[in-house]
Amino acid sequence: MNLADAKISVLDRGFIFGEGIYEVMLAVEGNLLHFKNHFERLQDGAKDMQLDIQFSETKLHDLIKEVLSLNNNPFCSVYLQFTKGAAPRDHYYPTRYDPTLFIMTSPINMPPRLNVVKAILLKDIRWQKCNVKSTSLYANTWAKTKAKKSGGEEAIFERNGILTEGATSNLFLVHRNKVLTPKENEHILPGVTRELVLEIMRRKNIDHEETNISIDSLWKADELLLTSTTKGIVAVKDINGKQIGDGETFNLGVEIFQALKTLSFT
Ligand code: PMP
Repeated sequence: MNLADAKISVLDRGFIFGEGIYEVMLAVEGNLLHFKNHFERLQDGAKDMQLDIQFSETKLHDLIKEVLSLNNNPFCSVYLQFTKGAAPRDHYYPTRYDPTLFIMTSPINMPPRLNVVKAILLKDIRWQKCNVKSTSLYANTWAKTKAKKSGGEEAIFERNGILTEGATSNLFLVHRNKVLTPKENEHILPGVTRELVLEIMRRKNIDHEETNISIDSLWKADELLLTSTTKGIVAVKDINGKQIGDGETFNLGVEIFQALKTLSFT
């Protein structure tokens, strides 16, 4: 159906409480990329929220493919959201509910080469369940807009002096040929692209470690890279007006960009 014709109840718990989970995936020529990884993360979020999505992996995959075939874009993003649907307004989870499922696809362009962006550093004011891909994204939209207003594209969060992630991305820092990325915990989203990049580094024998990264490491880094499904991998040349590395050479960024491209198109 047309986006303009889609309707949900004003009592939908997604609207009333911001209570929902979502995924953003890529599709190339009608094929969903890394669906298993996205589905597993969706299931983890659903478990946390005690939300029975009532779809098997195969059933949901078939449904998304149906939406993709209706839209027929060669390269697009797929947005998918589940909530517990409409119920009388009450903070307690409803005992019986009919979930709302919303799926939309949008055409996007794959960048031809590694994009280079500016970012800002912000205190991570988010909650302790950042591992859940929750639709309550006010802290993220607030941070992202703050970044845009200061001429950047991304906000990078730090919690007690330790870097966590970007407002819409995971981060990797390169220092003297070793790559560091924050450990998986409640302060970061277990990004699908993050996992792909880790896998690429394992295959290529690139020295890497999942560890705590201090703010100070930023100013000694050779490269700072951000990953997400829709952007792939981008390099950061400047944070709060301070240059990262030499501000223009992103050897590892370019190598991973190529490897990710190969994973998407072959
Ligand atoms: N962290 C946050 C906060 C995000 O919103 C996203 C997705 N935009 C990511 C990390 C990257 O996750 P993925 O690679 O699965 O898109």
